Amino acid sequence: MDTAPPALSPLDTAWEARDAQPSLTRALIQPELGGPDDPQAGVIAAYLLWRDGALPDAVERVTLSLNRLRLGPPSVWTGRGLNILAALQSQLNRPDLAVSLYQEQVDLARHIRDPELSATALHDLGVELRFSDPERARQHITEALLIFQGMDYAHGVAVAHANLADFAQRAGDHHATLHHTAQAMAFPFMDQQPTLEVEVQAARLHALIALNDPAAADARARLEQFSGSHTNPEVQITARLALARHAPPDRIVTLLTPAVDTARLLGEHVNLPVLHEELSAAHAALGDHAAAHHHLSETLRLERSRHAAERRQNLQSFEVLHRIQALQEIAEQERHRNDELNVHLQELRALNRRIRELSRTDHLTQLTNREHLFHEGERLAAASSPPRPLAAAIIDIDHFKRINDTWGHQLGDTVLQHTAQLIRSVARPGDVTARYGGEEFMILRPDASAADLALTCQELQRRMHAHPWQDIIPDLRVTLSIGVADTARADPPDFDALVAEADRRLYTVKNAGRDHIRAEA
Ligand code: GH3
Ligand code: MG
Ligand code: MG
Repeated sequence: MDTAPPALSPLDTAWEARDAQPSLTRALIQPELGGPDDPQAGVIAAYLLWRDGALPDAVERVTLSLNRLRLGPPSVWTGRGLNILAALQSQLNRPDLAVSLYQEQVDLARHIRDPELSATALHDLGVELRFSDPERARQHITEALLIFQGMDYAHGVAVAHANLADFAQRAGDHHATLHHTAQAMAFPFMDQQPTLEVEVQAARLHALIALNDPAAADARARLEQFSGSHTNPEVQITARLALARHAPPDRIVTLLTPAVDTARLLGEHVNLPVLHEELSAAHAALGDHAAAHHHLSETLRLERSRHAAERRQNLQSFEVLHRIQALQEIAEQERHRNDELNVHLQELRALNRRIRELSRTDHLTQLTNREHLFHEGERLAAASSPPRPLAAAIIDIDHFKRINDTWGHQLGDTVLQHTAQLIRSVARPGDVTARYGGEEFMILRPDASAADLALTCQELQRRMHAHPWQDIIPDLRVTLSIGVADTARADPPDFDALVAEADRRLYTVKNAGRDHIRAEA
């Protein structure tokens, strides 16, 4: 069967391409970049700003977008925005904020049942917590791993195993380390992921050596390949550090001295102080105290400058946090205004409903009024068919004029109200009960015959006879004459014809002496 994959929207395409083809992403969101109106494009723009190192701008952009996205129903875009903001907070040394944002992403992803978003959130939350709460971190990454496995997302599975190998290694569990590195290495495209593989091989080598496993030779050989100058400099440095961990001092010097130059070329590389520290220890072991001193002072100098850089970044993060706070306040006000508008809208809707009800209701009896009766009657007649007819009963109070004349108009009104209440009491759900005119009422029953409605009218007669009218006025007696008809033989069905027929039958009753029902011609 030819099942084409669902077409991606331009923004989804832009999101998918964000790492592999950022220029395509930039082009796709260009029209939206003009205004802050599209929060989804804003999320993507924030991602690109973050990747370009413009942290404050990225934070501002994603916060603005999130504020707008949070006004609507939760979506995958809210989740993506939360993920970006969490990563930014982590980078700005605010692990507490990062953790709570990842947690929000986890909750949202579960709520909208998006497995990929859930797994990503759990994984990133685990990585964030790896030093502060390793046990919880391990649980989150394990959960992410299970989701990735369920989705058949091989890259996610491999990355999760690599992280779990790292946990196991730090916990000194060599067997678990080997298990996870083996699982990670099962990733079919590992040869295209040197940054991932070198970490996995480093963990593997360490565990194999600790267990005296001869397979250590393979891991070492692979790391030797990675340590060659042809590979990506970061991969090269990681491989050399892993090899140096299990090498004698002279070999450490050979491995790490060139790595220092490579790391320097990368700029303020995080590994540089470590490299100098390792070199200092190796030179000291070889008795070269001048070199040992040189490398140790380099370590100290780099650590100092790193602290200065961290301070700068902290300062920058304070500035950003200040800006976020201002934005949050604006968003809060907007939300508040939105809530107020919503309340007003609900009130208006309720008022509207009430007005509509009033316009359909007879003031004295609270039954459907004549105007709406005809509206409903025409609608129901048009929807009826000979096998499913509409039945109608016209109910007329007998000698009502006498009641008015004897006891006054006000008592007449009371009788109309009591009669209306009795009509309501015999009606079925779906019936229309209406005041047709002065002392005339009507019951409409869809999908029913005249005979069926006549039974209800008999019950109405019974209740009229049993009603304690004498409690209102001792001599008061109220009876009804009723004509019932249906549309079973009318094709096409017509409401005016139905009413005319019921009316004819009512007059037959009147002529025959009243207080009776007629449901045949
Ligand atoms: P019949 O048995 O032939 O139906 O006689 P009837 O007296 O009931 O019929 P008729 O049509 O002669 O009189 C109806 C009376 O109903 C006339 C009118 O004054 C009265 N009426 C109409 N609307 C109202 C109302 O809202 N309240 C009161 N109290 N009387 C009303
Ligand atoms: Mg009448
Ligand atoms: Mg009457």
